[in-house]
Amino acid sequence: APEFAGLAALVTGGASGIGLATATLLAERGARVACLDLNPGVPAPLTGIRADVADDDSVRAAVEEAAETLGGLDIVVNNAGIGAQGRIEDNPDEEWRRVFEVNVFGMVRVTRAALPHLRRSAHAAIVNTCSIAATAGLPNRALYSATKGAVLSLTRAAAADLVGEGIRVNCVNPGTADTPWIGRLLAAAPDPAAERAALEARQPTGRLVAPEEVAAAIAHLASPLSGATTGTDLAVDGGMHGL
Ligand code: NAD
Repeated sequence: APEFAGLAALVTGGASGIGLATATLLAERGARVACLDLNPGVPAPLTGIRADVADDDSVRAAVEEAAETLGGLDIVVNNAGIGAQGRIEDNPDEEWRRVFEVNVFGMVRVTRAALPHLRRSAHAAIVNTCSIAATAGLPNRALYSATKGAVLSLTRAAAADLVGEGIRVNCVNPGTADTPWIGRLLAAAPDPAAERAALEARQPTGRLVAPEEVAAAIAHLASPLSGATTGTDLAVDGGMHGL
């Protein structure tokens, strides 16, 4: 049987980039998949569900709808996230609150809402999309890095809380992945082609990470085959973290 046959997965931020690549891969490997997103247009066989991870009512309704449509939930991929640029003193309080609401509290809300369903699964797994920014100490990324540091801590603590119930929690740390997000950043640069070349030159591999490569790592951590792995983080960054 395919690796994910009989399993149901919810992917937040599942309509673009890493989330869409993950939802697509899990479905190809046999899972029933719902994508929770602000803009939930996704191709069949994926199911799109509109929700804002920063809104608790919206999350609870969407998670219930996903569980009902898919017939339960075995896998949750907490991937929805937004960026922020700026040095330590640059971002207004309101932006600090907003980015933490989405990147950190969003994961807490979705996880809380999904847990009653995950507790009924024999193969429950949560995978969070973190970032090399969690530990890299990148310049001009204080707020974003702080949210991803929180995601890493949350992943380890949640894994400890839930291991006794057979629910695994892990995260992936992408480097610079070639998604619409990076496309938007490049489009805003004075010379997008030169900016892309400079970004590629900073990668040890000389190229950006493909969203499908992050999806493959998420699928590994979501799979029943990784049943002894919990509380860990997997870098998908072309060797960037070792430098
Ligand atoms: P993306 O912008 O292509 O996709 C993100 C998706 O999340 C979008 O479909 C968006 O609508 C959705 N989303 C945003 N806010 C939401 C909200 N409040 N509620 C519901 N959905 C929401 O971005 P991506 O590059 O695929 O990034 C996905 C994740 O990967 C993020 O958590 C990001 O921090 C992380 N990440 C990305 C990179 C990279 O280089 N692209 C690197 C490290 C980590």
